[in-house]
Amino acid sequence: MTCLLPAPTHSCIMKQTTERNNSVISALHSPLPTFSKETNHIKFDILAKDHGTRARRGRLHLNHGTVETPVFMPVGTQGTVKAMSQEELADMGFQIILGNTYHLYLRPGHELIRSVGDLHKFINWRGNILTDSGGFQVFSLEHIRKIGEDGVVFRSYVDGSYHEFTPERVMEIQSALGTDIVMAFDECAPYPCTEDYAREAMVRTHEWAKRSLDSHDPNQAFFGIIQGSVYPELRRQSAQFIASLDTDGIAIGGVSVGEGKELMMNAVDWSVPHLPEHKPRYLMGVGTPEDIIDSVVRGIDMFDCVLPTRLGRNGSLYTSQGRINIKNNKFIDDFSPVDPECDCWCCRNYSAAYLRHLYKCDEILASRLATYHNLYFYRTLMIRIREAIEQNRLTEYRKEFLAKYRRHRASVHDEIPRQDLSRDGAQKKTLSME
Ligand SMILES: [Zn+2]
Repeated sequence: MTCLLPAPTHSCIMKQTTERNNSVISALHSPLPTFSKETNHIKFDILAKDHGTRARRGRLHLNHGTVETPVFMPVGTQGTVKAMSQEELADMGFQIILGNTYHLYLRPGHELIRSVGDLHKFINWRGNILTDSGGFQVFSLEHIRKIGEDGVVFRSYVDGSYHEFTPERVMEIQSALGTDIVMAFDECAPYPCTEDYAREAMVRTHEWAKRSLDSHDPNQAFFGIIQGSVYPELRRQSAQFIASLDTDGIAIGGVSVGEGKELMMNAVDWSVPHLPEHKPRYLMGVGTPEDIIDSVVRGIDMFDCVLPTRLGRNGSLYTSQGRINIKNNKFIDDFSPVDPECDCWCCRNYSAAYLRHLYKCDEILASRLATYHNLYFYRTLMIRIREAIEQNRLTEYRKEFLAKYRRHRASVHDEIPRQDLSRDGAQKKTLSME
């Protein structure tokens, strides 16, 4: 395997970086551990199917307990779901959260986390954790990377030091984190991009998927990632290729990068028919409540998105009658709960007027309450979706939910800016934040 680090820069950087980063760079060249896949740390049971749609009601059995699907996974990029404690997440019923390999590798470092046991121990989370491979973050930093067949060289957003991610390296880091589901290292093509570019990224993603699979820790469940951008033939090829691998689950990547709802749903529709029934399907970085329902209908089982936490911190709250901007003047003397239909801790104890006041004063409690409420909204939505599939009435539930959710849209005054809906745009803006 060749090193992608340019020699002159490499020696220069070695002098400039801290001792820890020197050891990180040196470790790039040490022999990599190899694993053979002898055990399987995932079991996926499909409990029911909705007859009118492709939706499945399932149960994932992982190292840290079961996960009811379809599931929404809160995003804890830095080992924390912002403004929430792990105890609150568990009390709310979440059985799995996300961590990010890229961020945790740079800070505090996977070796530090390994030294205390694993990420679960470090953050005191007893449920399951899925780690992103870091591919999305690395490829979002277009101006500071070098892509080769072997991997990617990138600069740390923390201190500017150079690092190299290869599929084997990323699997080793995720092994050190000790998470329950690990993702293949992939190349997420930007949107828009030409079909030739998307094909090149897809071919590389397939090669890296094989290498990731061969080198992943057999104590962890492994998911491959479909790419192919907005091109139907590429999506078909990628879905068929990833489906042919001996993975534990399959993700659809390269979505929610600014392509818009229609193309995102197309990517799902072009992929799902080629996927085996018995593996869980994960749509990465999606989405709004509407996106989630529409994707469950298309056969997706797993979701993650920063919207409920990020929008909550910005004063945007989900309610059964649409999303509201709590900073709006109309809430000045509204002493009712944010959502009268919500029975979360926030809505049971505090009024919309109080929340608005907290936002206006930039008080920390505003972020805490709004994040709590928004995650509770997503949690409840997923419970209702699962019940509807069990009762074989998902189509009806979708209609009921959307009719109410969209009823007051005209008065919401809170359309999500396009860049906030885009993983890519948001990522460039707040790379270190989520
Ligand atoms: Zn609430």
